[in-house]
Amino acid sequence: MSDRGPVRPKDRFMVFGAPLIGEEEIAEVVACLRSGWVGTGPRVAQFQSDFVKYQGGVGHAAALNSATAALHLSLLAAGIGPGDEVITTPMTFCATVNAILHAGGTPVLADIDPLTLNIDPEQVAARITPRTKAILPVHFAGRSCRMDALVALANQHGLKIIEDCAHAIETEFHGQKAGTFGEFGCFSFYVTKNVVTGEGGLVLTRNAEDADRVRILGLHGMSRDAWKRFSDDGYKHYQVVEVGFKYNMMDLQAAIGLHQLRRVEESWQRREQIWHQYMNELASLPIGLPAPVEPNTRHAYHLFTVMIDEHEAGISRDRFLTGMTAQNVGVGVHYLSLPEHPVYQERLGWRPEEWPHAMRVGRQTVSLNLTPRMNAEDTADSIEAVRRVLGA
Ligand SMILES: *Cc1c(COP(=O)(O)O)cnc(C)c1O
Repeated sequence: MSDRGPVRPKDRFMVFGAPLIGEEEIAEVVACLRSGWVGTGPRVAQFQSDFVKYQGGVGHAAALNSATAALHLSLLAAGIGPGDEVITTPMTFCATVNAILHAGGTPVLADIDPLTLNIDPEQVAARITPRTKAILPVHFAGRSCRMDALVALANQHGLKIIEDCAHAIETEFHGQKAGTFGEFGCFSFYVTKNVVTGEGGLVLTRNAEDADRVRILGLHGMSRDAWKRFSDDGYKHYQVVEVGFKYNMMDLQAAIGLHQLRRVEESWQRREQIWHQYMNELASLPIGLPAPVEPNTRHAYHLFTVMIDEHEAGISRDRFLTGMTAQNVGVGVHYLSLPEHPVYQERLGWRPEEWPHAMRVGRQTVSLNLTPRMNAEDTADSIEAVRRVLGA
């Protein structure tokens, strides 16, 4: 490590995944506050229709307060319950598996392809049993899963597909948008994601009845949206038709999302530039870089992950993380494989060794900062910090 001191001064610590918030978002939030309608209302409705339009006009959107909620309600609307197995990847955020457990289902892991870091369709096929009801692929880092193979498996075995698109708003596979391959696509607008509402999520579904079911489940099980009750054609009683949840998105959140969504392509282009700069300028270092983007797919460039193999890099992954932070450059880990966590070991008997590719990747991976908020200097600092920490 260098004795030149950190790349960035302490008061300019580069926060990992800090969102780019424009004046438009700020003005819209203020307008929303001044309007007197802060909860679920016209701005959420606008955000839903803008989102459907961005996804090619296919299907219906139900905006919620997180992707975790979107996954949970999609699984319930798909009829997943006790005794049902849902196949997913060990290389994901815990919310993916927690949602399956909250729905009452049993998560079953299929190992990843070590190159793409996405769920391996051959491993999925090997885990299908008579109890399997759904496949829950995650488009990791924004790289599309092999949806042709997964759709073929689902058709062959009568399984539903629920896509975790938390990284994948812009992702496409063979000209088709991620989130439109199966019954449900689940999106996240968390602060570090590609489109931000603060906290926020959305279910995209082809079927209008499924969208209604998700909206009802997301608002206490009430038969009508609260804001419709106060329309000018008189007071309407609501009916509670299910035991629902409190998962609705507020207009205050949608106010941010409306303008984030208008800039989604601009932000994607900026991340693509940074991605290529990382690819070029880190190419000579003893670390693993992401695989090239597969032909006829579109990568959402949500995460740029490098692999730190201690024997090649001369430094352990965890010392690399500490080193980057000491350079005042924020980094992330996406993810330790889920079986590393005690709750799943205790509750489900998972052992990391059972999914060896995910285990190795989870122990070597580091996410470098990749947000449209980064300017040229930030990108250069991030690259320089990697060099220094590697002693290159
Ligand atoms: C962020 C994330 C989620 C959860 O999203 P929230 O909106 O924070 O609930 C789920 N799955 C993956 C892969 C994620 O990255």
